[in-house]
Amino acid sequence: MTEIFDSVKAFGNGFSTTFKHLFKKPITEQYPEYKRPLPDRSRARIVLTCDPDGKERCVACYLCSAVCPVTCISMQSAEKSDGRRYAKWFRINLGRCIYCGLCEEACPTSAIQLTPDFENTKLDILSLVFEKKDLLINSCGKDKDYNFYKYTGIKTNSGDKGTHAFEKKPVNVKSNLP
Ligand code: SF4
Ligand code: SF4
Repeated sequence: MTEIFDSVKAFGNGFSTTFKHLFKKPITEQYPEYKRPLPDRSRARIVLTCDPDGKERCVACYLCSAVCPVTCISMQSAEKSDGRRYAKWFRINLGRCIYCGLCEEACPTSAIQLTPDFENTKLDILSLVFEKKDLLINSCGKDKDYNFYKYTGIKTNSGDKGTHAFEKKPVNVKSNLP
């Protein structure tokens, strides 16, 4: 008896929701004429951002590539004469990407970021293989002020170790000897 009562109650609950919506004005969004603004944290098209000084952020550390669960990121690292590392080439196969955001989480320089731009469907699957020139944007993206080389104690032409904001002078390891 209790089971019959529970079943009738469950049906009643389900149909009450249906009936409530029968008398409401339907909401129809006319996509693509109207595009609902998505939050900044939405995970879609991937970009490579630049530092506030306009230089490439990516230091080709391979962390995003290592963490990617579908191994769709590949690159080759190189170093400039001023000491900055960079990716000689950088490739993401967006046809395989599952937009999990792990690459963005792993990136120490805030270079790789996912954006709300979800309109990336293509008939030709190979055109979803994005090269560095397709990924690089002239903007800091979400992290406007962060500059990896100003916080991480790496010597470049723009400053020596320990000379940047919030950095301490390098430790003299010999001073720790007994
Ligand atoms: S969003 Fe996920 S699947 Fe896509 S490239 Fe980044 S780590 Fe790989
Ligand atoms: S995008 Fe970030 S995590 Fe990936 S190689 Fe460049 S610096 Fe490293």
